[in-house]
Amino acid sequence: MKRQTATELIHHPYRAPAGFEAPQTGVHKASTVIFAHVAALRARDWRHKNGYTYGLHGTPTTFTLEERIASLEGARHCVLAPSGLAAIALVEMALLESGDEVLLPANVYGPNREFARHELARWGITHRLYDPLDAAGFEALIGERTRLVWIEVPGSVTMEFPDLAGLVAAARRHGVTTALDNTWGAGIAFDGFEQGADIVMQALTKYPSGGGDVLMGSVCTRDDALHEKILGCHMRLGLGVAANDAELVLRSLSSLPLRYAAQDAAGRELADWLATRGQVTRVLHPALNGAPGHAHWQAVTTRAAGLFSVLFSERYSPAQVDRFVDALKLFKIGYSWAGPTSLVVPYDVQAMRPDGHWRGHLVRFSIGLEEVEALRADLEQALGVGFGDHGAAGG
Ligand SMILES: *Cc1c(COP(=O)(O)O)cnc(C)c1O
Repeated sequence: MKRQTATELIHHPYRAPAGFEAPQTGVHKASTVIFAHVAALRARDWRHKNGYTYGLHGTPTTFTLEERIASLEGARHCVLAPSGLAAIALVEMALLESGDEVLLPANVYGPNREFARHELARWGITHRLYDPLDAAGFEALIGERTRLVWIEVPGSVTMEFPDLAGLVAAARRHGVTTALDNTWGAGIAFDGFEQGADIVMQALTKYPSGGGDVLMGSVCTRDDALHEKILGCHMRLGLGVAANDAELVLRSLSSLPLRYAAQDAAGRELADWLATRGQVTRVLHPALNGAPGHAHWQAVTTRAAGLFSVLFSERYSPAQVDRFVDALKLFKIGYSWAGPTSLVVPYDVQAMRPDGHWRGHLVRFSIGLEEVEALRADLEQALGVGFGDHGAAGG
C-alpha cells in the first residue's frame, strides 16, 4: 500500500516525554480536543476546569494564565478576553439588562463610556457619570435601577484618585455590584478585592504584558455565582484568546513586580522634575503632593504606575504644545502604556471633561524602561523647542 503520509503525520505516535517538567508553560493551540470515547466527552465539564472540551473554552495555556492572573488579583476565578475593552464589555453584557443603569466615573476609560453611549443605550440600558472625588455625590446618584458601578483607580488621563473605600461602601449599602478597572494598579499597587470590589478587571495589554505587543483583558471574581454569570456570557459570545498571546503574557508575568517598581520610580522622578518647570502648571500623578485624590492614594497604597499627565500653562498656544510633543525623540507619540518604550499623547482635556475645572493643555506620559536620565534630557530639550528657553521655575 502507498504510504499514507498525511494520515501518518496526523496520527504520529510521538508524544513529548512526561519527564519534561520545564517551569515554562507550553503553547497549546487547538480548536479541537479529542476524546477517547463518548463517556469521556460526556464527563468533561470545562466550567470547572476538570478537563478540556474545545479550544474556545480553554487550553492548558489559557487555564494557566487564568490561574496566575487570579492569584495576582487575589481572586478565585478569572476569565480572559481578547482585549481590555472586550473584558469591560463582557462585564456589562453579563450583568445588565434592559431598564438597568450603570454609573461611570467622569474620568472613565473613554471607550467604556462609548460602549455605554452606543451599545448599552440601544439595549435600553442607561448610564450616568459621577465625580470620582465626591463619594457623597456618588451615593446620591444611586437609584432604583442602578445595577453596576465602574470604579477606576485613578481614572484615565486626568488621573484623579477616588475614595475607593467610600465608593465601595456606598455601592454596597445599595446592593449595587462594583467593577474595578485595575489596569493602573495591575494587581501590584493594591488588592482590589480587599478594597471591597466585586469584580476586578484589568487590561493585560498594559503591565502584565509589558511588551506593547499583545492585547488582552481579564475579569476576576471571588464570588462563584458572579463568576458563573460572566463565564456563561463569555462562552456564548465566543471570546477566546490565542495561545501565543497567552504565552506572551505568561512569559512577562514573572517580571511584572520588577517592571512595575522600576517604571514607578522613574515616573515619579520625572513627574517631580516636571513639577519644577516653569511651563508646567500642574502634574497629575496621584503620588505627588497636591495631585487630585493624593490623600485617597495614600490611604490605599505607596505604589504607582509609571503614568502621569501634565498641564501646561494656558499662556501657551496649542501649536506650542504640539511642537513640544513633536520635538520629543525618546518619547514616541502613541496610545497605550506600560511597555518598554516611553510614550506621549496630548489630550483635549476641555473636550473630554466639559465640567470646566480644567485649565491649560494636557499631555500624558507613559514611562518605559529607558534610563531616567535619558528621558529627562529628552524632555528638557523638547521643552526648549516647544516653549522657548524659560524652563526654570517661575519662567
Ligand atoms: C488600555 C485600557 C483599557 C483597555 O485595554 P485594551 O486592551 O487596549 O482594550 C481599559 N482600561 C484602562 C484603564 C486602560 O488604560
